Amino acid sequence: MDPQVALLLRRLERERLARKQAEKIVEERSRELFEKNRELEKLSSTDPLTGLHNRRHFGASARVEFERVLRFDLKLSAIMMDIDHFKRVNDRFGHAMGDTVLVEVAGACKTGIRVTDLHARYGGEEFCFLLPETGLDGARILAERLRVSVAGLHFTTDSESFSVTASFGVAERLAGENSIEDLLGRSDKALYDAKREGRNRVVTWEAPRPANPQESG
Ligand code: GH3
Ligand code: MG
Ligand code: MG
Repeated sequence: MDPQVALLLRRLERERLARKQAEKIVEERSRELFEKNRELEKLSSTDPLTGLHNRRHFGASARVEFERVLRFDLKLSAIMMDIDHFKRVNDRFGHAMGDTVLVEVAGACKTGIRVTDLHARYGGEEFCFLLPETGLDGARILAERLRVSVAGLHFTTDSESFSVTASFGVAERLAGENSIEDLLGRSDKALYDAKREGRNRVVTWEAPRPANPQESG
Protein backbone atom coordinates (compact mmCIF):
# COMPACT_ATOMS: atom_id res chain seq x y z
CA MET A 1 0.00 0.00 0.00
CA ASP A 2 1.10 3.49 -0.75
CA PRO A 3 2.69 4.69 2.54
CA GLN A 4 0.82 8.02 2.18
CA VAL A 5 -2.50 6.17 1.97
CA ALA A 6 -1.57 3.91 4.90
CA LEU A 7 -0.72 6.97 6.97
CA LEU A 8 -4.03 8.59 6.07
CA LEU A 9 -5.96 5.43 6.97
CA ARG A 10 -4.22 5.22 10.35
CA ARG A 11 -5.07 8.84 11.05
CA LEU A 12 -8.70 8.32 10.10
CA GLU A 13 -8.92 5.29 12.40
CA ARG A 14 -7.38 7.28 15.29
CA GLU A 15 -9.90 10.05 14.73
CA ARG A 16 -12.79 7.58 14.60
CA LEU A 17 -11.74 6.06 17.93
CA ALA A 18 -11.31 9.51 19.52
CA ARG A 19 -14.80 10.52 18.32
CA LYS A 20 -16.30 7.33 19.71
CA GLN A 21 -14.65 7.94 23.08
CA ALA A 22 -15.90 11.55 23.16
CA GLU A 23 -19.46 10.37 22.37
CA LYS A 24 -19.27 7.87 25.22
CA ILE A 25 -18.15 10.59 27.67
CA VAL A 26 -20.96 12.91 26.55
CA GLU A 27 -23.49 10.09 26.95
CA GLU A 28 -22.25 9.30 30.48
CA ARG A 29 -22.28 12.98 31.50
CA SER A 30 -25.85 13.41 30.17
CA ARG A 31 -27.00 10.39 32.13
CA GLU A 32 -25.36 11.75 35.30
CA LEU A 33 -26.98 15.16 34.79
CA PHE A 34 -30.37 13.53 34.20
CA GLU A 35 -30.07 11.55 37.45
CA LYS A 36 -28.88 14.62 39.39
CA ASN A 37 -31.79 16.62 38.01
CA ARG A 38 -34.22 13.92 39.04
CA GLU A 39 -32.71 13.84 42.53
CA LEU A 40 -32.95 17.63 42.84
CA GLU A 41 -36.55 17.59 41.63
CA LYS A 42 -37.39 14.95 44.24
CA LEU A 43 -35.65 16.94 46.99
CA SER A 44 -37.44 20.15 46.08
CA SER A 45 -40.85 18.45 45.99
CA THR A 46 -40.59 16.25 49.08
CA ASP A 47 -40.96 16.92 52.79
CA PRO A 48 -37.67 15.59 54.18
CA LEU A 49 -39.16 14.24 57.41
CA THR A 50 -42.16 12.28 56.16
CA GLY A 51 -41.35 11.67 52.49
CA LEU A 52 -44.76 13.05 51.52
CA HIS A 53 -44.86 15.82 48.94
CA ASN A 54 -44.44 19.33 50.26
CA ARG A 55 -47.16 21.94 50.03
CA ARG A 56 -45.55 23.75 47.10
CA HIS A 57 -45.37 20.61 44.95
CA PHE A 58 -48.87 19.58 46.03
CA GLY A 59 -50.24 22.98 44.99
CA ALA A 60 -48.67 22.72 41.54
CA SER A 61 -49.82 19.15 40.84
CA ALA A 62 -53.25 19.81 42.34
CA ARG A 63 -53.79 22.66 39.89
CA VAL A 64 -52.83 20.41 36.96
CA GLU A 65 -55.19 17.71 38.26
CA PHE A 66 -57.96 20.25 38.72
CA GLU A 67 -57.62 21.37 35.07
CA ARG A 68 -57.97 17.76 33.92
CA VAL A 69 -61.03 17.32 36.11
CA LEU A 70 -62.64 20.45 34.68
CA ARG A 71 -61.89 19.49 31.06
CA PHE A 72 -63.35 15.99 31.34
CA ASP A 73 -65.95 16.80 33.99
CA LEU A 74 -64.61 14.18 36.41
CA LYS A 75 -65.16 13.74 40.12
CA LEU A 76 -62.61 15.05 42.58
CA SER A 77 -62.47 15.03 46.36
CA ALA A 78 -60.10 16.36 48.98
CA ILE A 79 -59.26 15.27 52.51
CA MET A 80 -57.64 17.54 55.10
CA MET A 81 -56.27 15.76 58.12
CA ASP A 82 -54.75 17.04 61.35
CA ILE A 83 -53.29 15.04 64.22
CA ASP A 84 -55.21 15.63 67.44
CA HIS A 85 -53.52 17.30 70.42
CA PHE A 86 -50.13 16.82 68.82
CA LYS A 87 -48.60 19.50 70.98
CA ARG A 88 -49.20 17.22 73.97
CA VAL A 89 -47.16 14.46 72.29
CA ASN A 90 -44.19 16.83 71.97
CA ASP A 91 -44.65 18.19 75.47
CA ARG A 92 -44.92 14.78 77.06
CA PHE A 93 -42.59 12.60 75.01
CA GLY A 94 -40.24 15.11 73.38
CA HIS A 95 -39.82 16.55 69.91
CA ALA A 96 -37.91 13.51 68.58
CA MET A 97 -40.80 11.23 69.48
CA GLY A 98 -43.13 13.78 67.89
CA ASP A 99 -41.12 13.43 64.70
CA THR A 100 -41.39 9.64 64.87
CA VAL A 101 -45.17 9.97 65.17
CA LEU A 102 -45.27 12.23 62.11
CA VAL A 103 -43.21 9.73 60.09
CA GLU A 104 -45.36 6.75 61.12
CA VAL A 105 -48.65 8.56 60.57
CA ALA A 106 -47.53 9.77 57.13
CA GLY A 107 -46.40 6.23 56.26
CA ALA A 108 -49.76 4.74 57.27
CA CYS A 109 -51.58 7.32 55.16
CA LYS A 110 -49.37 6.82 52.13
CA THR A 111 -49.98 3.08 52.32
CA GLY A 112 -53.72 3.68 52.55
CA ILE A 113 -54.17 5.84 49.45
CA ARG A 114 -53.96 5.02 45.74
CA VAL A 115 -50.83 5.77 43.73
CA THR A 116 -52.87 8.22 41.68
CA ASP A 117 -53.96 10.17 44.78
CA LEU A 118 -51.97 13.31 45.56
CA HIS A 119 -50.57 13.69 49.07
CA ALA A 120 -48.80 16.38 51.03
CA ARG A 121 -47.57 17.36 54.44
CA TYR A 122 -49.59 20.56 54.37
CA GLY A 123 -48.34 22.04 57.63
CA GLY A 124 -46.64 20.87 60.83
CA GLU A 125 -49.02 18.02 61.72
CA GLU A 126 -51.51 18.58 58.95
CA PHE A 127 -51.80 16.45 55.82
CA CYS A 128 -53.79 16.85 52.64
CA PHE A 129 -54.94 14.34 50.04
CA LEU A 130 -56.52 14.95 46.65
CA LEU A 131 -58.46 12.02 45.22
CA PRO A 132 -59.02 12.08 41.46
CA GLU A 133 -62.15 10.41 40.13
CA THR A 134 -63.50 9.91 43.65
CA GLY A 135 -66.84 11.20 44.91
CA LEU A 136 -67.79 12.21 48.43
CA ASP A 137 -68.81 8.70 49.55
CA GLY A 138 -65.53 7.15 48.37
CA ALA A 139 -63.53 9.93 49.99
CA ARG A 140 -65.40 9.57 53.29
CA ILE A 141 -64.75 5.81 53.29
CA LEU A 142 -61.05 6.37 52.62
CA ALA A 143 -60.80 9.03 55.34
CA GLU A 144 -62.47 6.66 57.79
CA ARG A 145 -59.98 3.95 56.85
CA LEU A 146 -57.09 6.37 57.39
CA ARG A 147 -58.57 7.42 60.73
CA VAL A 148 -58.65 3.78 61.89
CA SER A 149 -55.08 3.15 60.64
CA VAL A 150 -53.71 6.20 62.46
CA ALA A 151 -55.51 5.30 65.69
CA GLY A 152 -54.14 1.75 65.39
CA LEU A 153 -50.49 2.84 65.45
CA HIS A 154 -48.69 2.20 68.73
CA PHE A 155 -45.69 4.10 69.99
CA THR A 156 -43.46 3.14 72.87
CA THR A 157 -41.00 5.06 74.99
CA ASP A 158 -38.76 3.56 77.66
CA SER A 159 -41.52 3.69 80.22
CA GLU A 160 -44.88 3.82 78.46
CA SER A 161 -46.77 3.31 75.24
CA PHE A 162 -49.29 5.59 73.61
CA SER A 163 -51.27 6.15 70.45
CA VAL A 164 -52.60 9.21 68.64
CA THR A 165 -55.76 10.11 66.76
CA ALA A 166 -56.47 12.46 63.88
CA SER A 167 -59.42 14.47 62.59
CA PHE A 168 -60.50 14.62 58.96
CA GLY A 169 -62.42 17.06 56.79
CA VAL A 170 -63.74 15.80 53.46
CA ALA A 171 -65.23 17.67 50.51
CA GLU A 172 -66.10 16.93 46.89
CA ARG A 173 -65.83 19.40 44.02
CA LEU A 174 -69.18 21.03 43.47
CA ALA A 175 -70.67 21.34 39.98
CA GLY A 176 -69.42 24.59 38.50
CA GLU A 177 -66.69 25.03 41.11
CA ASN A 178 -63.58 26.02 39.23
CA SER A 179 -61.03 26.74 41.90
CA ILE A 180 -58.96 24.16 43.76
CA GLU A 181 -58.64 26.64 46.64
CA ASP A 182 -62.44 26.54 47.12
CA LEU A 183 -62.42 22.74 47.33
CA LEU A 184 -59.52 22.71 49.80
CA GLY A 185 -61.12 25.53 51.77
CA ARG A 186 -64.31 23.50 52.18
CA SER A 187 -62.39 20.41 53.36
CA ASP A 188 -60.59 22.65 55.82
CA LYS A 189 -63.93 23.93 57.15
CA ALA A 190 -65.08 20.32 57.59
CA LEU A 191 -61.82 19.57 59.44
CA TYR A 192 -62.49 22.49 61.73
CA ASP A 193 -65.95 21.03 62.45
CA ALA A 194 -64.38 17.62 63.15
CA LYS A 195 -62.15 19.28 65.77
CA ARG A 196 -65.05 21.20 67.23
CA GLU A 197 -67.24 18.11 67.43
CA GLY A 198 -64.66 16.26 69.55
CA ARG A 199 -61.77 15.13 67.24
CA ASN A 200 -60.89 11.58 66.09
CA ARG A 201 -63.63 11.73 63.46
CA VAL A 202 -64.40 12.29 59.80
CA VAL A 203 -66.68 15.17 58.89
CA THR A 204 -67.87 15.86 55.34
CA TRP A 205 -68.58 19.37 54.17
CA GLU A 206 -72.26 20.11 53.81
CA ALA A 207 -73.82 23.04 52.02
CA PRO A 208 -75.41 25.52 54.45
CA ARG A 209 -79.13 24.85 54.39
CA PRO A 210 -81.16 27.66 52.82
CA ALA A 211 -83.28 29.50 55.35
CA ASN A 212 -86.86 28.18 55.49
CA PRO A 213 -89.16 31.16 54.87
CA GLN A 214 -91.97 29.45 56.83
CA GLU A 215 -89.71 29.07 59.90
CA SER A 216 -88.43 32.64 59.76
CA GLY A 217 -91.91 34.11 59.05
P1 GH3 B 1 -55.45 20.14 67.68
O1 GH3 B 1 -56.05 18.85 68.10
O2 GH3 B 1 -56.37 21.29 67.88
O3 GH3 B 1 -54.92 20.09 66.28
O4 GH3 B 1 -54.24 20.41 68.67
P2 GH3 B 1 -52.68 20.32 68.36
O5 GH3 B 1 -51.95 20.30 69.64
O6 GH3 B 1 -52.42 19.19 67.43
O7 GH3 B 1 -52.45 21.65 67.54
P3 GH3 B 1 -51.46 22.85 67.79
O8 GH3 B 1 -51.55 23.68 66.54
O9 GH3 B 1 -51.73 23.52 69.09
O10 GH3 B 1 -50.03 22.21 67.88
C1 GH3 B 1 -49.37 21.66 66.80
C2 GH3 B 1 -48.02 21.22 67.26
O11 GH3 B 1 -47.29 20.57 66.21
C3 GH3 B 1 -47.15 22.39 67.70
C4 GH3 B 1 -45.86 22.19 66.96
O12 GH3 B 1 -44.76 22.37 67.79
C5 GH3 B 1 -45.93 20.76 66.48
N1 GH3 B 1 -45.13 20.52 65.28
C6 GH3 B 1 -45.22 21.13 64.09
N2 GH3 B 1 -44.31 20.65 63.24
C7 GH3 B 1 -43.59 19.70 63.90
C8 GH3 B 1 -42.49 18.84 63.57
O13 GH3 B 1 -41.98 18.84 62.46
N3 GH3 B 1 -42.05 18.00 64.54
C9 GH3 B 1 -42.61 17.95 65.77
N4 GH3 B 1 -42.13 17.09 66.65
N5 GH3 B 1 -43.63 18.77 66.14
C10 GH3 B 1 -44.12 19.61 65.22
MG1 MG C 1 -53.30 19.15 65.51
MG1 MG D 1 -52.66 21.81 63.02
